[in-house]
Amino acid sequence: MKSGKIFIISGPSGSGKTTLCEKVLQETNIKKRIIKMVSVTTRQKRAGEKLGRDYFFVSKKMFLYKKRRGHFLESKKVFDNYYGTPKRVVKETLSRGKDVLLCIDVKGAKDVVKIFPAAITIFVRTPSFADLKNRLAGRGSENKKTTDLRLKTAKSEMKEEKKYKYIVINDNLSKAIKELEEIMLDEIIV
Ligand code: ADP
Ligand code: 5GP
Repeated sequence: MKSGKIFIISGPSGSGKTTLCEKVLQETNIKKRIIKMVSVTTRQKRAGEKLGRDYFFVSKKMFLYKKRRGHFLESKKVFDNYYGTPKRVVKETLSRGKDVLLCIDVKGAKDVVKIFPAAITIFVRTPSFADLKNRLAGRGSENKKTTDLRLKTAKSEMKEEKKYKYIVINDNLSKAIKELEEIMLDEIIV
């Protein structure tokens, strides 16, 4: 059986990765064709997030144990917390011929591309830095310290966007969903 493809979505915190992935997977023709991988993290669960749907929330001790046991395809410390992509489920899904979606940071994306050079990379960003600030503030999930860290990191992440195969500017949400859907459908049928 032909192996599935890997889609990687990166972008600054607040650029809309989670929203876009959720909408594309729920509302478009991509539904059922691509499976989003659920990462493991040590960060605190946000209001509305669900264990096993948004992330597997674990303690730092458990994360490091899993890392030592080779549980992750890649893992990184992002904004003072650990995040990792479970290896087994990615490999099993690909070997079933299904495509997978990883929503991971730019450093993790680099590691995955080293292992899977054919991975399709998509960078999501806002039209301007001011929009990013407003969206992050509007989400209401961060305090002053974590906001500053996320915005500071955004500047270095944005320098990496040229290395991505596609850049989606998340201005009007419906348009961005459509664009992401088109990219994915186009890559699926190649
Ligand atoms: P990320 O996953 O990249 O950190 P989110 O998906 O959590 O970003 O989006 C950050 C905030 O911006 C959320 O409150 C979300 O509802 C909002 N948002 C996402 N896309 C848009 C858009 N196109 N226009 C306005 N607000 C948006
Ligand atoms: P958040 O805390 O906002 O959910 O995510 C913070 C950052 O961690 C985002 O850039 C997100 O894409 C990234 N991230 C989420 N899961 C993973 C993962 O498994 N690996 C890596 N390297 N980054 C991840």
